[in-house]
Amino acid sequence: VVTWTDLTQQPEDPIFKLLNECIADSDPSKINLSIGAYRDETGKPWVLPVVQKAKQILLSDPASNHEYFGLDGNRSFTEASARLILGQDSAAMKDKRVTHIQAVSGTGAVRLGADFLAKFRPGTVYITNPTWGNHPKIFAASHLKVVEYNYWDGKTRTIAYDTLLDNLNTAPVGSIFVLHACAHNPTGLDPTHDQWKQIASIMKERQLFPFFDCAYQGFASGDLDRDAWAVRYFVEQGFELLVAQSFSKNFGLYSERTGCLTGVFADKETTVKAHSQFCALVRCSISNAPGFGAKIVDIVLKDAALTKEWKENLKTMANRITLMREKLFEHLKKMETPGIWTHITSQIGMFSYTGLTLAQVAAIKSKFHVYMTDEGRVSMAGLNESNVKQFAEAVDWVVR
Ligand code: PLP
Repeated sequence: VVTWTDLTQQPEDPIFKLLNECIADSDPSKINLSIGAYRDETGKPWVLPVVQKAKQILLSDPASNHEYFGLDGNRSFTEASARLILGQDSAAMKDKRVTHIQAVSGTGAVRLGADFLAKFRPGTVYITNPTWGNHPKIFAASHLKVVEYNYWDGKTRTIAYDTLLDNLNTAPVGSIFVLHACAHNPTGLDPTHDQWKQIASIMKERQLFPFFDCAYQGFASGDLDRDAWAVRYFVEQGFELLVAQSFSKNFGLYSERTGCLTGVFADKETTVKAHSQFCALVRCSISNAPGFGAKIVDIVLKDAALTKEWKENLKTMANRITLMREKLFEHLKKMETPGIWTHITSQIGMFSYTGLTLAQVAAIKSKFHVYMTDEGRVSMAGLNESNVKQFAEAVDWVVR
């Protein structure tokens, strides 16, 4: 007899639950700082002007169609994607030690990489504490053992660098380490170049496998090369590694599910085999990747003028977020809000990890209709000239 005894109600995903709560809130002064999606200075979603142009080009192309790409997706897009992260003149690409496959955005790329590792290079997966809420879920879904490594020092509001190194030194040899390529989610804190070098050196010695998650290239600093520095350094140091790339934030293509999984291997033979296994995993999960977003990114990256314009659009987003960090900091300083707030301006990328407690987050939500995650993460893109002061006042009120 078939029964549904094990079918229990799954609790709502916390971030989407929070977003829905915010949408349902009818208070006109509400501030949505929940989900990591860019908003312009009027609080509206922003279709990048360069994406608008690429859409027109795609629509007016008589050769454009809706055929299947094949298992590895839009190859022109994945090649451009790999070059974007590894560098236009990547030596590893010249040596044919790099393979790339289209994935269903960053999430799909992480999952594909996790399935690949589970099958061909199993090991404990170390994820940062804290991290993007989906990391533990994805790796567990791929049946990998997930353990956290230290990343955040709540007292100093900086990277818990010493304990991070301890964790690298004591993890079982051969473990997998998920590294945020830039703009760590949720803390907005990245290791310095010297710190990355030290991390790489320990990882090499202990044969730890780097799996980079890159969801914010260009969005973090406004500079694509600067945000790719860590990945390129690891490749130069001779690591085999995976990189999951998302084009949700840097192209504003959130719902178009545009991503790529890039693998760098020691030799050509391994690379060819890995590619065949990536394809096999795609075949039984999504079979063929979605077309629209990949075509848009490809149109932009193929064209020098459009690429230049994209870089300007990236700067517009990165600069507006930096400005909001400065404004928020200024307001807190002016009110002499108790506590250290310098991390607001030293953190980079989409998020600020305020250090507010669960109780403070809840209090701000009920009194001021401000929505941020329970761990005190603020999506800086939700702030603008009209609400940043109001948010600063809410923070000031709750910490006094
Ligand atoms: N990885 C990290 C660290 C993220 O913050 C995100 C998005 O928030 C993603 C991956 C993937 O996002 P998407 O699947 O929308 O591309």
